[in-house]
Amino acid sequence: MKLNIACISGDGIGPEIVAEAKKVLNATCEKYGHEIEYTDVLMGGCSIDAYGVPLTDETIDICKKSDAVLMGSIGGDTTTSPWYKLEPSLRPEAGLLKIRKALNLFANLRPAFLYSELKEACPLKSETAEKGFDMLIMRELTGGLYFGDRSTKEIDGELVAKDSLEYKESEIRRIAIKAFEVARQRNKKVISVDKANVLDSSRLWRKVTEEVAVAYPDVTLEHMLVDNCAMQIVKNPSQFDVVLTENMFGDILSDEASMVTGSIGMLPSASLNETSFGLYEPSHGSAPDIAGKDIANPIATILSAAMMLKYTFKLDKEAKAIEDAVQKTLQEGYRTSDLLGCGDVSEDKKCGCKRMGDLIAERII
Ligand code: NAD
Repeated sequence: MKLNIACISGDGIGPEIVAEAKKVLNATCEKYGHEIEYTDVLMGGCSIDAYGVPLTDETIDICKKSDAVLMGSIGGDTTTSPWYKLEPSLRPEAGLLKIRKALNLFANLRPAFLYSELKEACPLKSETAEKGFDMLIMRELTGGLYFGDRSTKEIDGELVAKDSLEYKESEIRRIAIKAFEVARQRNKKVISVDKANVLDSSRLWRKVTEEVAVAYPDVTLEHMLVDNCAMQIVKNPSQFDVVLTENMFGDILSDEASMVTGSIGMLPSASLNETSFGLYEPSHGSAPDIAGKDIANPIATILSAAMMLKYTFKLDKEAKAIEDAVQKTLQEGYRTSDLLGCGDVSEDKKCGCKRMGDLIAERII
């Protein structure tokens, strides 16, 4: 297969971690007989420096013509970087919002998986961590409270602020379909999270999700109220496979789910549209405090590349080869500096970004 990938290395540690993800992708494609072509484009602070704007139309065009986008991270130190003296629409993050909109990326997937090798970093009770967990939060990204009408008005001598939460059936249906499709590639269970005991939008969410479920008899659907879900992620995370939810609930629950894994450098993400196209990036930011030092953990970006193989190219075997290589490297005791709290690590097992990338690439089988 030929894979056409647009590559946004971005700012800070972005170029370092993307280089390692490319290294692992190249090793995988070589092993499994695929051809891979990258088109490097700028977004974020580096695009501001080159073109005066965080995202150009040309970059959007190249991304649209590609099968998928692999991204590092964008942005700089928000207190010292000159990029943050610009008006908000010209700052690095405006590029990210614009590209998500231009590519119609409405489904955000964030897996939270606890590697048994890293369970000491898990802040949950040891008997809970011992069981492990492998969940994926699927968050609706373009509707709901963050995009509804809002206003602040003075009424009867005091300020009154209002935000509105609106979902159309079509918006719920398309992300529910995505959740069931993704569940079919995982453990075939969807837990849809809402607040149907209070909110009309949640009652519609439940109704449409149940309608969609009819076409997926092999996938189990359960409903859970969002307050209970927040508790269950801490109490019994191993019960979850795909967690489907609206924008604001997903914003909060995905951060909670990622924190229970205990390690920010390990968490990949994907943003998908109605086609097989996706933008794949680590969940963390550009870490300007450690940029250029070869100490960043590249695993979140490497696992994002694995998600790309799985969800855009349907290359499950190849994606698994990357996941297995990551696990093997951790099993053998290699750690980047962010993971040094997880057990005793001998000097020869401490790695920088490049060495970690090399070790994982060498373990692709
Ligand atoms: P951050 O995620 O960049 O860093 C938080 C802490 O985690 C830092 O101490 C950092 O050194 C550490 N860290 C992050 N990734 C790491 C890795 N791979 N290996 C080892 N340590 C790692 O968050 P922040 O400091 O709040 O933000 C920095 C910049 O990143 C800001 O400009 C912010 O806007 C931007 N940002 C971008 C994205 C994105 O590109 N999608 C997401 C979040 C933040």
